[in-house]
Amino acid sequence: MADTHCPYCALQCGMSLAVPSGAAGPAAVVSPREFPTNRGGLCQKGWTAASVLGAPDRLTTPLVRGASGELEPASWDEALDLVAGRLAALAAEHGPQSVAVFGGGGLTNEKAYALGKFARTVLRTPNIDYNGRFCMASAAAGMNRAFGVDRGLPFPLEDLGGAGAVLLLGSNLAETMPPAVQHLAGSRERGGLVVVDPRRSVTARLADDGAGIHLAPVPGTDLVVLLGLLHVILAEGLADLPYLGARTTGFEDVARSAAAWWPERCEGVSGVPADDLRRVARLLASASPSRGGRGVYVLTGRGVEQSTQGTATVTAAINLALALGLPGRVGSGYGAITGQGNGQGGREHGQKADQLPGYRKIDDPAARAHVAAVWGVDPDSLPGPGKPAVELLRSLGRRSEGDDGPRALLVHGSNLVVSAPNATSVVERLQSLDLLVVCDFVPSETALLADVVLPVTQWAEEEGTMTSLEGRVIRRRKALEAPGEARSELWILAELARRLGSAVAFPTDPAVVFEELARASAGGPADYSGLSHARLDADEAESGPGLFWPVPAGNPAGTPRLFLERFATPDGRARMVAVDHAGPSDDVRPGAPVHLVTGRVLQHYQSGAQTHRVADLERLVPEPYVELHPVLGFRLGVTDGARVRLTSARGWVEATARWTDAIRPDTVFMPFHWSGSGSVNRVTTDATDPISGMPEFKVCAVDVTPVPLE
Ligand code: SF4
Repeated sequence: MADTHCPYCALQCGMSLAVPSGAAGPAAVVSPREFPTNRGGLCQKGWTAASVLGAPDRLTTPLVRGASGELEPASWDEALDLVAGRLAALAAEHGPQSVAVFGGGGLTNEKAYALGKFARTVLRTPNIDYNGRFCMASAAAGMNRAFGVDRGLPFPLEDLGGAGAVLLLGSNLAETMPPAVQHLAGSRERGGLVVVDPRRSVTARLADDGAGIHLAPVPGTDLVVLLGLLHVILAEGLADLPYLGARTTGFEDVARSAAAWWPERCEGVSGVPADDLRRVARLLASASPSRGGRGVYVLTGRGVEQSTQGTATVTAAINLALALGLPGRVGSGYGAITGQGNGQGGREHGQKADQLPGYRKIDDPAARAHVAAVWGVDPDSLPGPGKPAVELLRSLGRRSEGDDGPRALLVHGSNLVVSAPNATSVVERLQSLDLLVVCDFVPSETALLADVVLPVTQWAEEEGTMTSLEGRVIRRRKALEAPGEARSELWILAELARRLGSAVAFPTDPAVVFEELARASAGGPADYSGLSHARLDADEAESGPGLFWPVPAGNPAGTPRLFLERFATPDGRARMVAVDHAGPSDDVRPGAPVHLVTGRVLQHYQSGAQTHRVADLERLVPEPYVELHPVLGFRLGVTDGARVRLTSARGWVEATARWTDAIRPDTVFMPFHWSGSGSVNRVTTDATDPISGMPEFKVCAVDVTPVPLE
């Protein structure tokens, strides 16, 4: 029996894994475990997580594309010699920037750290980024700018339970993280749950029957809703002026910009009734601490962040929270709900294009000197910032003059063919490479394009740490051996480093890697220097699971709540920044008159590489679908259950139509867990937020047409 955590989302529900004796039955069995985020609950994905480990097509040996053009089994020596030889040859001929690395938000902290170190010290390439750019970059940019540090939830999730009101923007928590819904019970009982979503999602329905209010804006106009709420707060004298004076800067500019967004103007753009905006603003104000309320939380999710104005929208949410005097007060605050399992830790340890371990900026000379000393290299040998993920993918394989893009790509923990925006163009870029190496546990859609596929261990087969959406550092524990010749990425990186002649040490024991990571993080915003695997184990046995960073050596208790006395800015004050609405990059127009929004379903996770291999989940949701309102269906001749095609400027996708009145009549919804003709990311835009580099997954314009029966 091993006490560990679910491998999927950032809630990191506690679970125990038992390995039955005897050959019959599954390799491991999950039982829920008491943990503060899930309190003994698991969703369907968690309950079935162990069955993924025994997937029939689990990769158990390296594969190399042979002369026949097929992927063929190879020994580790053959595969690694080939990869190292070709990487060395490309770097010698075209320079180190000809090699790129793409990481993932599901990798453990130790793997994310080792990957960034490998790219910068062995490959010496600036070209490294990861799929967290797709899911957390705008929230991170907004929080870093306002607060000086980005920890998704700067407070324990359990704090939500005591609030008088929770404003939830762009998050379908009830499907993506079902056990988290219990933390909304308090605000629902008090009539204070406000959900902002173009769909009446499962989460939006929690606000029915007096439990709160659901606002359904036109897709891409969440920023207008936030500006309207701030306008009412200011116009009706509901702001916490003493707090604003003592703890913020920039209020006057923000107030001036919000003055232009009176409720009726907001209604004209967002479709949200002006009176509803007033109602919500007054509800939030009445629950805020400055007016004697129980407290308010403002929370954002991917629905508002995956936008070309994602950073601006997060900033508007933070401005609203600051106007109400929430951040840095016990029982109130602003937070972003991280999605991927290690989406938080994944952005702290150096696999992000612009960061070094400890969540330090890569162009900060002091950070470079500190990390270089830990790695035993010259700071001047470390490359500078690389390209953010979408830009990196666009540059792959390009050969035009002055645009010599990377010729080799190493992919770890990411299924880009399904999960990247404008996916058809990504496939073309991957196919144009001289060398594509994919580390994966099954033949994912991306692995099937690779020249070399390296089989890797999975969550229940390895030791390590993850960092939850609350910034809580927790232990992942090994329960069983990996099948066949699957190996940890730590071992793979060490073997490649050795073959490439690196003098830098790459330990393969996760506890040793963590010790080094902790030293590298010392003094940074995400300081883990007071932590070790042994410390986490001992603390869990004594007092509870995990510790909240920062955990500097001098503060071994960790920091559950940030900003109580000061923000992490030079003057200790939060920065308010004026923002304005520009609209989505791909707005509706003749020829593409309908908004498309994308999202997840309860039973599947990300690209579906794991959950499509779980029969109990696949049976429940076996194929993609398109939700549309009956009014839209009648108008376009798309009946319930018929095949429907969505066409954008990038491509088309087909699925089964599902009529529902739980969506705006100008909008369709499609989940993104499928590949091929059912892959909605063939249609989404790869336009990005100018500050965060995050792509605009959540809204684009499509034509909706019935597919004629053959
Ligand atoms: Fe796993 Fe997330 Fe479901 Fe919890 S909510 S069981 S962490 S997928």
